[in-house]
Amino acid sequence: MVERIGGGKRLPPTGIETWSNSGGTGVCSVVDMCCCSGAGGRVPGLVASLLNLMVGAGRECYIVGGAARAMLLGQRANDWDVATSASPSDIGSILRGMNLIRKGERHGTIGVERDGVNVEFTTFRTEGEYSDGRRPDSVRFVSDIREDLSRRDFTLNAIALRWPDLAVVDPFHGARDLRRGILRCVGDAAERFREDALRMMRAVRFESEHGWTIERRTRAAIATNAGRLDGISRERVRDELSRLIVGPGAAAALRDMISLGLMARVIPEFMDSVGYPTGSPDGTLDEHAIRATESVRPFLPLRLAALLHDIAKPGCFIVDGDGRGRFFGHDSAGAEMAGVVLRRLKYPGAIARRVRVLIREHMFFYDPSVTDAGLRRLIGRVGEENVFDLLELRRADAAAWGVAAGPFLKQVENRIRFILDAEQPVNGSSLAVDGRDVMAALGIGPGPRVGKVLRRLLEAVMNDPALNERGKLMALIESMRACDSQSTDS
Ligand code: ATP
Ligand code: MG
Repeated sequence: MVERIGGGKRLPPTGIETWSNSGGTGVCSVVDMCCCSGAGGRVPGLVASLLNLMVGAGRECYIVGGAARAMLLGQRANDWDVATSASPSDIGSILRGMNLIRKGERHGTIGVERDGVNVEFTTFRTEGEYSDGRRPDSVRFVSDIREDLSRRDFTLNAIALRWPDLAVVDPFHGARDLRRGILRCVGDAAERFREDALRMMRAVRFESEHGWTIERRTRAAIATNAGRLDGISRERVRDELSRLIVGPGAAAALRDMISLGLMARVIPEFMDSVGYPTGSPDGTLDEHAIRATESVRPFLPLRLAALLHDIAKPGCFIVDGDGRGRFFGHDSAGAEMAGVVLRRLKYPGAIARRVRVLIREHMFFYDPSVTDAGLRRLIGRVGEENVFDLLELRRADAAAWGVAAGPFLKQVENRIRFILDAEQPVNGSSLAVDGRDVMAALGIGPGPRVGKVLRRLLEAVMNDPALNERGKLMALIESMRACDSQSTDS
């Protein structure tokens, strides 16, 4: 593998410094001039060979973005962003024969994907006006990496590592911020957010993914400009929200979304929960939802369901005859509200359906008196694929309320596992007969009566799974016919 990590040599005061991975303690920047080490930070063979091809053809190449950060921190990178002096057509011809992805070519980006490694080459560029606040109207190709770095969002994203010596180009002291975990806009924060309001969501998403802290002025600029998020396409916002919510620091990032005014633009419905008293150890409903979110595993539909599971509570509040506050129907109303939120954010139907089911059913009854038939019906309503997520949501919900749900819920989980392992019937598709059998046995054609009979059979086998055998069910259909004709005769 061609991998040369520079030997600590200093270049003239151009802001380019050589970074070495031998010795030292952290990252280096033009300011602190230290060398740094890293346990990982290796460049995969494919990436190195592509970079060598480009550099061999006389073009400058710099590793930028997440890969540059990862290398400086000695971590593994997944995706490789490369900034290059080569024009898009040059990139295409130097890398011809590779499996090139050209969908970003107009903006100067050509990708290569092989064996799960993604490399994106982008010609040095600056961005033109953002007249719609969404995408630059134009991009201008430039010849200098520094000009390219100056259009980037945060200082720690505006670091470039020159190939092949890995000299660090860091005009905005991003390495220092990276080492301290500080997200700071390049230049004037408000201007950066006016150019592209999505950067505000990127800030909270990076906060969640990496545990970084948003610096004071950048925070202030988000708070002032949060309303500009309305001009951003919902798909772009959704992608950032999804990464944020499954990140390890989701709770802190969600709290920042609320306090900086982003939540009010992305999920305004959630704002009724903010500061809403619950009487639980969590204090307020927003805090309860956030704690539930961080305690379920990072699976997108489950985390979305945890965040939104009580979203309808404030609107469902009533005081019952005993003077007690109740939230009747908040589960089904919440499922509907979540559906509206997720549709607006253009989530795929399959994700929205899962979230709705989890919210609709999150109040399921689970004390030891629940019958097996009740559990089979629950599995049928929720779907096998969601039932363990529902238990996880319920456990998180109960924990956030300080309720020890543990033993009962564990028993229910074991019983559900048993039902599924025993392949007991839980929905219509597990019936040992189908509509054709019903039509043949009753001598009728397709129509509502077939569905009605199947529902009755399902009801019977849910209560007694031993009935779910073809012969027994055919006998049941027969007896239904007899009963039906008797009741018609009389
Ligand atoms: P990750 O890949 O982990 O999300 P990343 O920093 O590589 O992190 P990308 O979205 O891949 O993020 O973008 C690569 C680089 O492009 C960023 O580091 C940043 O320099 C720049 N960039 C991306 N999106 C924007 C934006 N909206 N505004 C300014 N710069 C951006
Ligand atoms: Mg990247």
